Amino acid sequence: MAISDEKAISRRNVVGGAGIGLAAVAAAVRPALGQQTSSPPSPSRPLQDPTHKYPRPPFKKQLQAWPGLVSKMEPRPNHGEQSYRGSGRLAGRKALITGGDSGMGRAAAVAYAREGVDVAINYLPAEEPDAREVIALIKAEGRVAVAIPGDIRDEAFCQKLVTDAVAGLGGLDILVSNAGRQQAHNSILDISTEQFDWTIKTNIYAPFWIIKAALHHMPPGSAIIATTSEQAYDPTPDLYDYAQTKAATMNFVKSLAKQLGPKGIRVNGVAPGPIWTALQVTGGASQEKLEKFGSMTPLGRPGQPAELGSIYVQLAAADASFATGQVYGAAGGSGQP
Ligand code: NAD
Ligand code: MG
Repeated sequence: MAISDEKAISRRNVVGGAGIGLAAVAAAVRPALGQQTSSPPSPSRPLQDPTHKYPRPPFKKQLQAWPGLVSKMEPRPNHGEQSYRGSGRLAGRKALITGGDSGMGRAAAVAYAREGVDVAINYLPAEEPDAREVIALIKAEGRVAVAIPGDIRDEAFCQKLVTDAVAGLGGLDILVSNAGRQQAHNSILDISTEQFDWTIKTNIYAPFWIIKAALHHMPPGSAIIATTSEQAYDPTPDLYDYAQTKAATMNFVKSLAKQLGPKGIRVNGVAPGPIWTALQVTGGASQEKLEKFGSMTPLGRPGQPAELGSIYVQLAAADASFATGQVYGAAGGSGQP
């Protein structure tokens, strides 16, 4: 309950309550409304200037073979491994995260485990070293961790992915559709049919197959969260194929939210701006773009996956129960929405 609501209720009770003291009324009202007593005060955290909180450009040119590894990136991305503090917001929940080995997916996995979630992650077999780190991080929180490698461009694998996740977790109530393929091309003429198909299969078909399979298992109260992008609204010229898949993602968030709202399942999106992840150093950005990556944002730097973990928590949490069909941005000041 918001503080202003509590004050309003207290005031109403005082007005009709013939001079009972405010504190007494508040104490009487709280248990009746199921409100918990306030937690002990935590030590204050120092203010941090977001412009200098994380590395700023220029960055070293670097190119890895797709899909890339976190450990080979310079500087190494921050997924909140050292910083995310949980408070039991999602205790007992069960999540499947695609692309959970690195980037936004890893940040969500770390944050979820610390909020009390059992987590299954999907990734490509080549990403096993990254996945092992995430599995260890989830287990370190005492949560169940399920590793399911495989290529989501395959419909049969997508169905098996969901079945294995449900079996390993004992159910499913959070689905984070996050895996993505991005390759920069200066011209539409440079995009082969094979490349176009790869992007569309990963970013549009796979979520369609995975969500269809998952819905059989997700009870009312569940949440689906898709990673879209600022590219959905304001595409750059070098991401012709990728940007249109992110517009499609933003769009399915809104249609599915309407379709699944009556069933008690919420569907929301996260729209990152430029974030320092493996996707960018494996052909997602040109070397020239990489050197000054994030410099065009008002904060003057790229985001780190760690800065988005709490958004995936918020969108899954039961106290965000009226948020559905929404897209939450984290783009350093220049992105949309
Ligand atoms: P990332 O490379 O760390 O994560 C992407 C993951 O997708 C990979 O780890 C991989 O496991 C998975 N993946 C890709 N193709 C797959 C396939 N065929 N089968 C199975 N898994 C596959 O990069 P990221 O930036 O964290 O990407 C996560 C999401 O964020 C993507 O949807 C991406 O489009 C989106 N996004 C990224 C940025 C950015 O600047 N990094 C900005 C906006 C949106
Ligand atoms: Mg990865």
